[in-house]
Amino acid sequence: MASLTIASISGGTGSYLAARRYVDQHGTDGLGLLFTDTLCEDQDAYRFLIAGAADIMGVALPAGFIPEIGDFPAWEDRPAYKAFVMALAGRARRAIPGLFWIADGRDVWDIYEAKRFLGNSRLDPCSAVLKRALAKRWLDENCAPWTRVIVGIDHEEIERFVGGPKNGGIRAAWAQRGHEALAPLCDTPHLSWPQRLAELEDRGLWLPRLNRLGFAHNNCGGFCCKAGIGHWRDMARIFPERYAYAERREREIREILGNVAMLTDRRGGQKKPMTLEALRHRDLSPDEASEKGGCGCFFGEDAGRATLAEHDGREG
Ligand code: SF4
Repeated sequence: MASLTIASISGGTGSYLAARRYVDQHGTDGLGLLFTDTLCEDQDAYRFLIAGAADIMGVALPAGFIPEIGDFPAWEDRPAYKAFVMALAGRARRAIPGLFWIADGRDVWDIYEAKRFLGNSRLDPCSAVLKRALAKRWLDENCAPWTRVIVGIDHEEIERFVGGPKNGGIRAAWAQRGHEALAPLCDTPHLSWPQRLAELEDRGLWLPRLNRLGFAHNNCGGFCCKAGIGHWRDMARIFPERYAYAERREREIREILGNVAMLTDRRGGQKKPMTLEALRHRDLSPDEASEKGGCGCFFGEDAGRATLAEHDGREG
């Protein structure tokens, strides 16, 4: 396979709209869609990903092809959920030519255990392994150097794309990996939020569930080691079962690694680890309640590039 252009899709609206704009301008000749799956995406993210990929590639899926949210096993039943998603990936790849839905087979918690490193707001071994290293390896094996990679960054985030004085940006990060990043949504005409929603509706798509629930991103089932204290409080309220699962896995990792935690307690001017269990019992200050981060995991910003360098080439 020697696609000239690869659109990196994630199950989010940005990557869909970026690929959609590219296809509206250039068509689908030579286009591939690459999805690196953490196997813990929200059910509706998978549904949106399949519907969006079919729309981009001009494929009419048979009725009932996309499962309903209730057809998936419980997210917390990780083995059953992973098996269901991998079978779904196989069906989607066969139905949508040009869709490359790949997975390492592990989820983010498996990576923390394997690396003996719990992801946090600064360092993200999960995305370094399951997103960046996997994508780079796939591109190296399947595409020519300087393949164009479409990313879902839009004009409001253009600094993340072009970089600032202390941050080379996503374009530079892809150049380091030997490919050229394109961000069609940074080009004019810029899309406002209502225009984005209208375009989704026009194409028969929808705003994915996590976005509707107010999450800042649509990754990892709402979970993210980089998200802040306020985000995790929302997780506890909206998805208590997922929160309980994360709390258990964090406790198990602490039994191996000692006093590590995903979150940081900054009260009193000193930083110390704060567990998900401790957060559940905590009265949040206004600052903590508003700490809700996006993730940007695929592209690896400052911390991400450090872990990319740290982890690249060390994964089997
Ligand atoms: S969304 Fe967060 S937890 Fe998931 S892979 Fe990206 S950085 Fe890791």
